[in-house]
Order: sequence, then structure tokens, then C-alpha cells
Amino acid sequence: MQSRVLLVSNRLPVTLTRREQGLEVNPSVGGLATALKTVHGGGDSLWFGWSGLVSDAPEPEVAAALAPHRAVPIHITAAEVKAYYDGFCNGVLWPLSHYLLEKVQLDQSDDWPSYRAVNERFADAVAAQWRPGDLIWVHDYHLTLVPAMLRQRCPGARIGFFLHVPFPGPEIFRILPRRAEVLRGLLGADVIGFHTAGYAYSFAYSCSQLLGLELTGDVMYDDGRPVRVAAFPIGIDADEFAKRAATPEVKARVEALHQDSQGRTLILSVDRFDYTKGHVKRILAFEKLLQLRPELKEQLHVIQLVVPTREQVDAYADYRSVVNELVGRINGTFGSPTHALVHMLHRAVDFDELCALYAAADVMLVTPLRDGMNLVAKEYVASRIDDTGVLVLSEFAGAATELHEALLVNPYDLEGMAHAMLQAIEMQPFEQKLRMSGLRKTVHAGDVDQWARSFVDALEQQKPSDTQAVPSVALEQAMAIVTSAARLLLVLDYDGTLVEFSNSPRAATPDRELVEVLRRLSLRPGTSVHVVSGRSRDSLESFLGELDLGLHAEHGLWSRFERKGEWGARRPLPPGWLEPVRRRMERVVQRTDGSVLEVKSGALAFHYRATEPQLARRRLEELRLALRSDPQATEFEVLEGSRVFEVRPRGVNKGTVLPEVLAMAPGATVLAIGDDRTDESLFAALPPGAVGVHVGGGQTLARYRVSGVAAVRSLLKRIADTVLAAPTALAR
Ligand code: UDP
Repeated sequence: MQSRVLLVSNRLPVTLTRREQGLEVNPSVGGLATALKTVHGGGDSLWFGWSGLVSDAPEPEVAAALAPHRAVPIHITAAEVKAYYDGFCNGVLWPLSHYLLEKVQLDQSDDWPSYRAVNERFADAVAAQWRPGDLIWVHDYHLTLVPAMLRQRCPGARIGFFLHVPFPGPEIFRILPRRAEVLRGLLGADVIGFHTAGYAYSFAYSCSQLLGLELTGDVMYDDGRPVRVAAFPIGIDADEFAKRAATPEVKARVEALHQDSQGRTLILSVDRFDYTKGHVKRILAFEKLLQLRPELKEQLHVIQLVVPTREQVDAYADYRSVVNELVGRINGTFGSPTHALVHMLHRAVDFDELCALYAAADVMLVTPLRDGMNLVAKEYVASRIDDTGVLVLSEFAGAATELHEALLVNPYDLEGMAHAMLQAIEMQPFEQKLRMSGLRKTVHAGDVDQWARSFVDALEQQKPSDTQAVPSVALEQAMAIVTSAARLLLVLDYDGTLVEFSNSPRAATPDRELVEVLRRLSLRPGTSVHVVSGRSRDSLESFLGELDLGLHAEHGLWSRFERKGEWGARRPLPPGWLEPVRRRMERVVQRTDGSVLEVKSGALAFHYRATEPQLARRRLEELRLALRSDPQATEFEVLEGSRVFEVRPRGVNKGTVLPEVLAMAPGATVLAIGDDRTDESLFAALPPGAVGVHVGGGQTLARYRVSGVAAVRSLLKRIADTVLAAPTALAR
């Protein structure tokens, strides 16, 4: 790690409390400080976050108290604690990420403005300290808008974001009214990390569904800037747990716990008292087990450690009383005066006590309804240095994707859980050993330092974006040549270049701004404008027919050289293969939600912009295979563009238009602009001295690059605005 790292999270690694004698500094609860100790432990990193004190403005004594910890305070007001923290963070994003829709509170109108304001404050504070070369690493759902805010304030910064909670499935995420803002906020980062590949996929799918972005490998291009979307599963300090479990102090505590249990099987659970952790279903499943096997009530001892959390939030108070009542019911039904079956410990414990509980427990129940990762599961495993004990783990915890040897359960299936508990209680030592040794290997292999290092390495390796890689000075020079040319030929792609993509090809109509700039260009002296598109004649004619432009449809199969001119075809039509291939593709569209078939005179385009990406991938495989073995395969070719799979006559491409339009404007300077693979044939056919501009990221033959449609339009406006004086005027 060579660069200075600026860490950004809601809470700082230390918490301040006001005492009569001054400010008291204590380590914060929660594992982020441990997780980031290699990053913040030495060097000159800075950590930005809330100190835990409420205030209306920055306070110099707070900053002074935190300075020795290289911590920079972000002040938060009492109203913001309610609206930003309790409201939008913990009343909306938290339950939504954990699929608990009935807990999502979307009716509080102050919450979102407050969330945005606090995110702005974080971004301002970080930007004020950022120096070129620094890495910025933003953490968690409290600060999803910060990456994009920082991108605006420090355009060249390398910004990483890690989400510590699950990214919900796209059908859940799209419930959020502010979904697009949240996605756009996150996309300001260069690297976005999640605990599992599943969460990364859900995020990418949401970006595809809501913003029309596409993931290629693990990179998504946002306005031409590459954003890496990947899984970085967090680990624990496994060696520390193993070492501690072997100390005489912990062993003595384990012994004491065994004595308290009087030879009974000890079943443990450790979680914050949070409704996502599944206490209710776990207790109900335990009750089922006792109903199934009543004799077990004498043989079991259950300890539930519940760590206090978010005590001001209403949903938590209700949850606590339901859990406490249930435990009372079980103890009342199955306990005895000498043996209360279920013990609830309502407090946090110190490290030795935690290790002792883990080391003493024969069975560990980790059954959250949803959990980003769940560190408790890994800590239990690391503490089982003699390879005994059984981990029962919810399949809805991120940890389940790594801890394959655990007994995996569905926490909503009470009967299934009861059976898994029984299986755990009765598991033979040889099987325990087999499973636990495998689990321990996994937990030691992916420890927390490795997690932090791999994320920072990924961020360090992130090259400056492609857009920045092409110096804008070069494009400026090219534009100077273009705008001063006496004769100018503009060859422009339509979708993704002049207009943004939309889910249906019919919806991408030209807006007034575009029509106006094209009209001005068409009237500009010495300038010819041609639009070369994959679209049909009808579509181009209805969008742009009234303008004095050359229009070239179906990748150059058809051309119309002037307003009201006749369309002429370059090939005889329709081709013989079209009908059978159309029938085949129609059948695929019928089975593929979110896809449409565009039927042109000489080509067929399967658009799958709104299709779930994995389904789309399967369908494309199917089509590729089928078309390869088509008897007329030599007559057509497949061209895959931006989420379109097009079958068209072999040898027709956008480049075939160029010789003709060049012949009509001899000696003209050519400016060609396009965004996808179909435009590469255009760039390949450009004469020397022509200016090719690619829109967005990815490989291209074009010499220049711009970020998106807005940038293209601003180039075109500049050309329209610079009208050369007529030669006669120059002569005078
Ligand atoms: N923990 C704690 N105090 C306790 C008991 C547990 O700080 O009294 C720690 C535990 O060691 C673990 C963390 O709290 O590292 C809980 O992390 P987990 O990922 O399991 O759940 P989260 O609370 O982050 O949702």
C-alpha cells in the first residue's frame, strides 16, 4: 500500500462522550476499526466520520480530541440523527437491503433531504483534504451518494466503495423511490466491492434495469469511465481468535461454563438485538424441536447473547419485547425451577468472554433472515481449535457462500431448522472434525488483512479512466481543424451517439435540442451531414426525415442522400434467409422477457436491453449456435452491438457508405462519431486525416474519445456555432 488512504464511514473508529472533565475517547463498537487496522494502523491515513456527539456545527475541541487518532469529525445535528440515521439509513436502506419490506418506512419526507445533506457534508470534508495520489475508500449504506459527490469535487481521484450489507435483488431494490440517485451515487466510485458475487450481480442487474448500463466481465462503463464491480468477502482476524482460545484464561472460563451447564449440550447464539438476525424464528424452531423430542429439555442449555443496538428505533423495541416474551414462554413450558432452558444475556461481552463462549459451545446457531456476511459464524469457527463443534448457518448470510461445511438452513423453515438443530446435537465427533477442519481452513485463508489489502490493491491498480487517458488537448486540436475546414463532412451514428439508449428502439426519438443542432449543421456553409444507423428506413425517416441530411439505414443497406430523396438499396431484397431466421428469432423473443425483435427489410435485430442479463446470455448462446448451423449461414453475418444481436446480409456495414459520401464532398475534412461495434467499420474506412471519435469506454479504432451523448452534442453545437466567413468576405 503506497498511497495515502482516506477512509470514510458513518462512525469513526473511536467514539467521543462528553464528561464533566472533558471529552472521553473510547473505541467504537462494531468491527470496522478491526477490519481496517492494517490500513489505518500506521502510515498517514485519515478517517472521516461521525464522533457520536450531536452538534449543529463543527466544534474545534472535538477535532482536537480526534486528531491524535488521525480521525476527522463530521458533525451531525439532532434532527439529522433522526432523519438521516434513524430515518433513511436504518428505517429505509437497512430493512430494504435485508428484504424486510414491512419494516421499510418510506413516508418520512425529511429523511431523503437529510441523507443527501449529510452525504454532501462528508464529501466536502474529504474533498478539502484530498491530494492527488490519495486513495479514497468509502464504506457502507450510510454514504452511497458520497462517491459521485467526490467525483465531481475531485475528478481525478481514485475512489472505492464497499457495501457491508447485502445488495438486495433488483425486484426489491427498485421499490426504493430514490433508486436511481443511489445507483448514480455509487457509480462515482472506480471500484465497488460487495461481500458476495451474488450482491455484485444484483447491483449490476439493477444498473442495467434502471440505468441501461452493461457489465462486461467485472467492469461497467458509466459515461465512458470504467467502474469495477466485484466481490471482496470480508474475513476476521482468525489467528487472534485461535490464539486467544488457547490461553489459560479462556480455558478456565470454558471450564466454568461447562460446569454451569452440568454436562448438558451447550447451544449458543451471538448477535446484535436486530430484527434481521432471526431470533424469533430461531426460538420458534427450538420450540418445535422440543415438541418433537421433549426429552431433550433436560439435556440442553441455550445461551443467547443479545448485544444492544439502535435502541431509539421503534421497530427494534417491538422486536425486543416479542423475543423476550417468546423466551419466557419456552422457559415456562419446558424449563424447571432448577434449569431455565434458555438464558438471555442482554449485553456486550469482552473479548475473552466471547472467545470462551465460542470455545465452550457444542452447537452454534447463526440464523439471520439476511446478513451481508456475518462475522460471528467465522469467529466461532476460528475459536474451535480442537475441530469440535457444529455450526448451523443460515443460507441467507453472505458467509454461507464460503462456509460450505456448515449445516445450512433456511431460517424461514422452522421444521427444517428444528431438524438441523437435532442433527447438530447428535453429530458424531468424526463428522464434527471433518466439517470443522474444512471450515477452519477457509476462515484462516481469507482473513481480514487479506480483505483490506485486496480491496486497496484493486483500487490502486485501477487505471485512470479511458476518457482521461486520451488527452482532451488532442481532441481540442482536432476540433480546431474540424471547425476551420472549408468543407466538412459529418458522419454520425444515431443511438448511443446522438440520443441515449432506451429500452425500446421506438422510444429513442430525437428531442428538440438534437433536431435544432442537426438543422443548424445542415444549413452550415460547406457542411454535409450524414446519419448512418442500424435503424430501418421508416424509423430514420420519421425521426429525421424533415431535415436536409443524408440518411443511411440498416447499416448502409439503404441510403437517401437528401431531404425528400428516394431511398436506394445496395443489395437485392429481401434476402432468402430472412424469413426462416425471423421465425426462429421470434420464438426466442416469445420466451425472453424484456426483449423485442426489430424486423427490417434486410436484417433482424434482437434487442435485449431490458432482459435479465443471465437469461439474455443464455438466449444469445442459443441463437449463435442455431445460426451457425443454418443452411444459409454463408449469406448473412451476426453483429453484436450494445445489447442488440443483429443478423444482416454479409458484407454490408457502415463503412460501405463512406466512398459514396466522400465522392460527393471531395476534399472535405471528415468527422465520424459512433459508440458501438457497428461503428468500428466506419472508423476502419476513414481516409487519412479524418477525425474518428468513439463515444464511451472500451476498445476502438477511433483516435479520439468522448464520454457520452452530452459530450457529442456539445461538440456538434461548437461546430454549428463556428460558421466560417464566406470566401468573398475573406477576400475583401
Ligand atoms: N461482538 C461484539 N460484542 C459482543 C458480541 C459480539 O462486539 O458482545 C462482535 C462480534 O465479535 C462480531 C460483531 O460483533 O465481530 C458482529 O458482527 P456480525 O457480522 O456477525 O453482525 P453485525 O452486527 O455486523 O450485523
